[in-house]
Amino acid sequence: MMTELHSQPSPPFNVLIVEDSPEDRELYRRILSRNAGTFRLYEASNIDEGLDLARQHALDCIVLDFQLPDGDGIDFIHKYQDARFASGAAIVMVTGRGSERTAVEVMKLGALDYITKSSILEGFFTQSILNAIERQHLKGEIVRYQQELERSYQALSEFTHTASHDLKAPLRHIVSYCNLIREDFADKLDEKGAEYIKRLGVNAQRLQKLVDDLLAYSEVANSREEKTTVDCNVIMAEVLEVLEEPIRETNATLNVAPLPVITAFPFRVKQLFQNLISNAIKYRSRDRNPVISVKVQDKGNEYQFAIEDNGCGIEPEFSSVIFQAFKRLHTRDEIEGSGLGLSICRKITEMHGGGIWVESKPGTGSVFYFTIPKLEARRNVLYGTTG
Ligand code: ADP
Repeated sequence: MMTELHSQPSPPFNVLIVEDSPEDRELYRRILSRNAGTFRLYEASNIDEGLDLARQHALDCIVLDFQLPDGDGIDFIHKYQDARFASGAAIVMVTGRGSERTAVEVMKLGALDYITKSSILEGFFTQSILNAIERQHLKGEIVRYQQELERSYQALSEFTHTASHDLKAPLRHIVSYCNLIREDFADKLDEKGAEYIKRLGVNAQRLQKLVDDLLAYSEVANSREEKTTVDCNVIMAEVLEVLEEPIRETNATLNVAPLPVITAFPFRVKQLFQNLISNAIKYRSRDRNPVISVKVQDKGNEYQFAIEDNGCGIEPEFSSVIFQAFKRLHTRDEIEGSGLGLSICRKITEMHGGGIWVESKPGTGSVFYFTIPKLEARRNVLYGTTG
């Protein structure tokens, strides 16, 4: 069940004040106790005491002095976050003098507000704490919502995987029986019967292809492959071997530039190149042989690959739609397909932290670009060569 968003946090809020000056603690206490029943206060005069109290109580907010006897506010935030206390309180940092650099630093660490001691006027101080609690609560809701979405997505793709996997065997039988009827009963079937069986076979094969593509689509999400060092030249050689038949049949020319060694999921990268090159052949122009180039540019922190074809091209208004599942610009009568190939490519680039897009001129050809960030492999070379 989906977690409901926008549920409000309700008082009293547990607020911990970590402040070494007794006068300042007294001031905060006075200001905050004016809103009767809104805050339950805990007080600490150094980092260790503060962490102890954070361990004991489910805190909503920590009002943190920047200068403490046993460290500074940043040390406290690090220790607090490392301890992963269940409540995950909002943090409001208070300093003697304001510094923009410190403010940016503590906000980056996750503090939700940063105020100077001189600006602690009653309404402002109380409101800063309430706002920080509200923002922290919303942050928590968003994380829960994302986790819920992730779980639903996982469940859906597991369902797709199981369903398509279970459909494979009966479908294979239908195709086999169609072939058997065609072979063994050819003389008993009249023209109409033979035509019906033929159509049945074609549709069953279409369904088989769709089920295979669905399975491939769901497997991308459930990939248990390890990221490793992948030599794209090796991958490309394998792809060209798999596509040997369509390349030969269409007289396609492939110009492949030297490719880099990347850190990636090897099987997925192969799938990515294979889908893009097979599309470049499939969606060729009817009046010329396919000429396909594979190039790469080193962009510093990522590689940008380009698969260029001289095919039929894509109208600009469809250049993002085609990356959605089941979106096709060609009918089945023109060219067979399930409309899943490019959505698989998109998922693969996303799982590597990259992106994919197309630039195209209808009637002239298309260039599909995708990027793969440069990262260190988590494991040693398991696939391809590094030479
Ligand atoms: P499928 O090939 O199964 O239809 P894809 O997701 O691979 O599915 O492609 C979606 C659509 O994008 C295709 O139906 C086609 O209309 C268009 N397309 C893909 N690649 C190319 C290309 N290289 N040139 C022209 N159109 C393309």
